[in-house]
Amino acid sequence: MRMKKSFVSSRFSRRLCASDNTSMSLLSCSVCNPFRALSRAAAKSAASRLRNLGLKPIAENWAARATVCERCPLRVIHKGVSYCGKPFLKQIERDIAMEGCGCPTREKAQAPEEHCPVDPRHRPALHTGTHCTCKWCTQAN
Ligand code: SF4
Ligand SMILES: [Zn+2]
Repeated sequence: MRMKKSFVSSRFSRRLCASDNTSMSLLSCSVCNPFRALSRAAAKSAASRLRNLGLKPIAENWAARATVCERCPLRVIHKGVSYCGKPFLKQIERDIAMEGCGCPTREKAQAPEEHCPVDPRHRPALHTGTHCTCKWCTQAN
């Protein structure tokens, strides 16, 4: 299995790979552990189905988040569905700051715990406590 050797930001990648409890780390960890990323992607998909059934909360500003995605150069339309980069299962190993996380943007936007992987200048987004520099947190609130 091919593994990426370069990262836009080694600081970002280290932080994501070390993190175990933030949603942004879920798919980005595909670089260092694709099997873990696959199981977490399945968990995210299950959570999305529960949200569709009204059994989990939806982010209040999800429509504004989705609008930010619509203007994003990383967005990919695949079979009529909007994704953050190529769909995850089409490319499990990826640098999310360069290629997107692979989630459907609508479902990702509806998940309150999710964040966009990049900031408005398309550098890796940074979380510091309650502050986040991602495009959603800076443009959709
Ligand atoms: S989540 Fe962020 S990087 Fe992904 S498509 Fe939306 S705006 Fe672009
Ligand atoms: Zn954010």
